[in-house]
Amino acid sequence: MPRPISATIHHAALRHNLLRCRSAAPDSKVWAVIKANAYGHGIERVHEALRGADGFALLDLDEAQRVRGLGWRGPILLIEGVFEPRDLELCCELRLWHTIHCHAQIDMLAAHKTRTAHHVFLKMNSGMNRLGFPANQFRAAWARLHALTQVGEISLMTHFSDADVPGGTQRQRSTFDVAACDLPGERSLDNSAAMLAGDLAPSCEWVRPGILLYGSAPDYPAHTIADHALLPTMTLASRVIAVQDLVAGDTVGYGSTFVAQAPMRIGIVACGYADGYPRHAPTDTPVLVGGHRTRLLGRVSMDMLAVDLTALREEGHDAGMGSEVVLWGCASNGAILGIDEVAHAAGTVGYELMCALSLRVPVRVDA
Ligand SMILES: *Cc1c(COP(=O)(O)O)cnc(C)c1O
Repeated sequence: MPRPISATIHHAALRHNLLRCRSAAPDSKVWAVIKANAYGHGIERVHEALRGADGFALLDLDEAQRVRGLGWRGPILLIEGVFEPRDLELCCELRLWHTIHCHAQIDMLAAHKTRTAHHVFLKMNSGMNRLGFPANQFRAAWARLHALTQVGEISLMTHFSDADVPGGTQRQRSTFDVAACDLPGERSLDNSAAMLAGDLAPSCEWVRPGILLYGSAPDYPAHTIADHALLPTMTLASRVIAVQDLVAGDTVGYGSTFVAQAPMRIGIVACGYADGYPRHAPTDTPVLVGGHRTRLLGRVSMDMLAVDLTALREEGHDAGMGSEVVLWGCASNGAILGIDEVAHAAGTVGYELMCALSLRVPVRVDA
C-alpha cells in the first residue's frame, strides 16, 4: 500500500469560485490566473473546471503551450511578457497576448519580423515598483508601441501592491487614471483582493483573479473564505499511522518542543514538510482528524507530524489508527479547514502552501 497521503482538487469548488468572481465583477471579463502551475493545483487538473473564464493569464511559455494543448482557443496572456526575442515567434504561433513592461520588450517587438499583429498589454508601474513604465513615461511607451506595424491592439494594465487593506488601491488607481485617461484600449487593474474590495473602476474590462479561484482569502485574517463565500479547491489529507500514549513530562518529536502536562494520546500522521506541509507550523496549528478539529503538536518532521487525540476523545470522537486527517481543505464529513488558517499559524499565506504542494504527493481530481 502506498503512503496514505493524497491531495484532491475539487472541480465543483473551482466552478463555484469562478462564479463568485463573476458576481464580484459582473461587467468585466475574467482572466483566470493560472501561473505557477495553477497555484500548485496543476494546469491540466483545473482547466476543465475553469473553461468558463474569458482567458487564462500565466507567465511561463511552456504553461501557455500546455493550455493550447488542452484545446483552449480563447485568449492567453503572458503577464510578464516575453523574455527573449524568439519568445515572440511562439506568441505568434500560439496566439498569445503579452505584457509589455519595459523598453527592452518594445525593442524586441520592433526588430521582430511578423505577419500577425500582436495584442499587447502595456503595463504601468503605478506604485508597486516591480514591473511597468512609470506613470510619466507611460504615454511615450504607448506612442512607441502604437507606431509599430508589429502591434495591433494595445490594452492597458497595472498591478496593486496593497489591495488587501481597505482603501489600499486608491493611490494607484488615481495614478493610473490620470496617466492613462485619454489613451484608448481595454483596461485590466484588479487582482483578487481588489475585486473583493468592491470598488472596481466601471471602465475596467478585465479582472485578474488568482487566489480567489483557489479558495483562499487574500485579506485573511480580516476575512475568511466563508465570509467571501468561497470554497476550498485543494484538500491535503492523510491518515494516522501510529498512536502513542504519553504520561506527564513526555515530549513529542525533534527538539522535544512539546511537553505533555498530563496523560494524553497522540496520533502520528503520514505528512511532513517533504509533502509541502509548512515546517514552521507550530503546536496548536489546526488539523481535522476524523472530520473534527484538533491541533498539531511539536515540530513537523520531513515525513510525519503529530496531532492531539486526547481533546477529541474528551469530545466523544474516537480517533486512532487509520483515522482520516485533513491538513487543509474538506473532510469526508463535510468539515472545512481553510488553507489560510494553517498558513497564518505558520507565518505565511495560502498562496505559498498551495504552490508548495510536493511532487511526491499523489493528486486526484474530484471532477
Ligand atoms: C498573480 C497575479 C495576479 C493574481 O493575483 P491574486 O492575488 O492571486 O488574485 C494578477 N495580476 C498579476 C500581474 C499577477 O502577477
